[in-house]
Amino acid sequence: MKKAIVVGAGLAGSYMAYTLGQKGYAVQVFEKRPDPRKSVYGSGRSINLVVSDRGWTAFKYAGIEAEIRKITVPAYGRQIHDLEGNQSYFPYSIEGKAIHSISRSELNQTLVELAEKNPAISVQFEHFCTHIDFELGEVTFDYKGETVKERADLIIGADGTGSAVRGVMMKQPRFNFTQEYIDSGYKEVHIPAAVDGSPQLNLDALHIWPRREFMLMGLANTDNGFTGTVFAPFTGAYGLDQLKTGKDGLRYFEKYFKNAIPLIPNLEEQWENNPTSALAIIRCKPYHWGSKTALIGDAAHATVPFYGEGMNGSLEDARVFCELLDEWGHENLPTVLERYTEMRVPAGNALVDLSLRNFIEMRDLVADPEFQLRKRIEQKVQKNHPDKWTPLYTLVKFTNIPYHDAMAEGERHDRIMAKVLATENIEERWDSDEVEQLVLDLLETTV
Ligand SMILES: Cc1cc2nc3c(=O)[nH]c(=O)nc-3n(C[C@H](O)[C@H](O)[C@H](O)COP(=O)(O)OP(=O)(O)OC[C@H]3O[C@@H](n4cnc5c(N)ncnc54)[C@H](O)[C@@H]3O)c2cc1C
Repeated sequence: MKKAIVVGAGLAGSYMAYTLGQKGYAVQVFEKRPDPRKSVYGSGRSINLVVSDRGWTAFKYAGIEAEIRKITVPAYGRQIHDLEGNQSYFPYSIEGKAIHSISRSELNQTLVELAEKNPAISVQFEHFCTHIDFELGEVTFDYKGETVKERADLIIGADGTGSAVRGVMMKQPRFNFTQEYIDSGYKEVHIPAAVDGSPQLNLDALHIWPRREFMLMGLANTDNGFTGTVFAPFTGAYGLDQLKTGKDGLRYFEKYFKNAIPLIPNLEEQWENNPTSALAIIRCKPYHWGSKTALIGDAAHATVPFYGEGMNGSLEDARVFCELLDEWGHENLPTVLERYTEMRVPAGNALVDLSLRNFIEMRDLVADPEFQLRKRIEQKVQKNHPDKWTPLYTLVKFTNIPYHDAMAEGERHDRIMAKVLATENIEERWDSDEVEQLVLDLLETTV
């Protein structure tokens, strides 16, 4: 029986362990944190996440889609809250497709428990990876002060943004790595269900309070509550660094997110006590080293959360890796690793670029009348010619087209729509056949 070690029992690692177990590997998973069933998991990290088609494709591949569906809440569009509290709704797709909100801890726990049902998979907590010998396939862990060494035929580094596995790769010649913090960070506030248990906001939507430089976002939980997240720069008049106390937080909400205040009974307390977290992007190349070791998930490409694709892209890494194993077999592992890097590095880089781009879109452009006009034109063209126009958001969230191909198509759409929006009186003519024809003509001629 071939042996695999997975470092990190987060979302990507526990999923990978499960699928490798299905392929007949004996899998040892080592996680630095204590068992989540015995502690509060992921404090300071996001409470809930969005699953998109890439996530679902990975769950389907592993045969666990039904299990996961049970713990999700669908959102069919964005509900925009303006400064005056007026709300407008924008569906994610004209076909009524949904993204799905899921609790990070519940998903993580479900994946770990599914993996542990296979007697060939063991998950060992409180094991901190400290070193890897790529030649020997030997991983070293610190377990409560003791050194533990294990060897395997395949090693997966799924140990997130601060990856120790990647840290050892970084010491090798010609391994490329960049890390960059963006100027904004985030703070979460919990929006509970009403006293009678009903939701205080429309459950079917992802709620956004876009305010140019910053925004509040609300994502549903299965208990009819929402997780609210303020994304804002650290510096400046209303920077997170200036908003330290509960009173500061309340003043900020009074000025910018007034209609959210009645939804959050203990806003001041939450604001003062909940952590403020930074956001970094990480890129590296290659995603493998030697003939046995690969990186998946945030360890390879940590990104900002504005497309809600970090986990989806991480699960896609694992699914693609497993499909390559299906195609080539373990006996050709070096080829699997090389093909994996070839396929996933461009995808990982595009995932980071798309996430940065969507920050601008969510924070800024959804409050912009020109953006809304553009969306209306695009939706009309898509409705009448679904074979010709698939919006970038749909390509990213509702298909498995590689991220880099989706991004290239999105950039082509930008060039087309810049020309359309520059035509005379577009605000009055946007619904006309003439504008629709212009888009179709530009689709033929714009590369
Ligand atoms: C605010 C926010 C919102 C987000 N929203 C979304 C969303 O809506 N949709 C989405 O798809 N993505 C979202 N993401 C991104 C998503 O959280 C990550 O992309 C995802 O968690 C990556 O999974 P992972 O398994 O690679 O890393 P992680 O989930 O971070 O897991 C890594 C694991 O490795 C362990 N580990 C670390 N170092 C070691 C070590 N040395 N030894 C042993 N174990 C170790 C860690 O304890 C952890 O359990 C969001 C992120 C943030 C911050």
